[in-house]
Amino acid sequence: DPRLQAISEAIRVVPHFPKQGIMFQDITTLLLDHNAFKDAVDIFVDRYRDMDISVVAGVEARGFIFGSSIALGIGAKFVPLCKAGKLPGEVISEKYVLEYGTDCLELHVGAVESSERVIIIDDLVATGGTLSAAIRLLERAGAEVVECACVIGLSDLKVRCKLNGKPLYILLEPR
Ligand code: 5GP
Repeated sequence: DPRLQAISEAIRVVPHFPKQGIMFQDITTLLLDHNAFKDAVDIFVDRYRDMDISVVAGVEARGFIFGSSIALGIGAKFVPLCKAGKLPGEVISEKYVLEYGTDCLELHVGAVESSERVIIIDDLVATGGTLSAAIRLLERAGAEVVECACVIGLSDLKVRCKLNGKPLYILLEPR
């Protein structure tokens, strides 16, 4: 896709953030480039518009940016998957393991109905730990997770294995 080059170039790579040795992929610069941001959203919208998706679930916080735009584009509802303690209503929670310690994603009870077809959106997949927790959470709510999608990711077998057989769609590999 000829649009991918400009999308890739709009993402800033920040060395040693948030700590030594990490090459941080900064998507905030993509958001400053109207054409590149729109092209990225359009690629997802074209992929999912005829797949009978009724829910786009976005992972806090950068998954909200792409996820809500995609939801509007395909005519689906948007459901935020939040870090612990951010959602005011009744929630179900799913813990996951990080490099150091654990984290948790939460979903409002009633936001997704059983058997709804869902896609899960985040900006970036690294180990796949976050997306695998998101899949477990939505499946506990009875949803059918059709696919996970990220702007940036490793198309690594190890990452895909963590997603428990769910397909992963990524636009770009990290630079
Ligand atoms: P994973 O659970 O796949 O190891 O990590 C993915 C999560 O970490 C995503 O929610 C993503 O937003 C965040 N993340 C990790 N590294 C980066 C990075 O370099 N850039 C951005 N934008 N997010 C990152």
